[in-house]
Amino acid sequence: MFFIGIFGVKQGQKEIGTESNVICPECGHLTRLNVIKQSSYFHIFFIPIFRWNVRYFAKTLCCGQLFELNAEAGKEFEEGKSGAISQGDLTRIGPQRRTGLVRCGSCGANVENSYRFCPHCGNHLT
Ligand SMILES: [Zn+2]
Ligand SMILES: [Zn+2]
Repeated sequence: MFFIGIFGVKQGQKEIGTESNVICPECGHLTRLNVIKQSSYFHIFFIPIFRWNVRYFAKTLCCGQLFELNAEAGKEFEEGKSGAISQGDLTRIGPQRRTGLVRCGSCGANVENSYRFCPHCGNHLT
């Protein structure tokens, strides 16, 4: 028991705050971001000794999309600088939303693939 967890390497994630008034790059809404800091750290007696591999992430509250935040902007945000995060600091992670056209199986019209129903004939698109 005593020897467990005295030192080791861990990866931690913690929410470091919320940034407001950011335009969501995903859906275009004026939104807020939950900013998450992730780092690997070496600890002794549960005290982090040094950290490396620090990365920042941000999750939008509008559509729940996860972005990787530019390290520079993440740092500025952590230092309490207002307006540190702008759209250009966010890199989308996770699956890309496909954009393009699909062909309606019912009427043959080319329809944007974000639609669930064909606007021409009402056919349910899969
Ligand atoms: Zn959004
Ligand atoms: Zn159709």
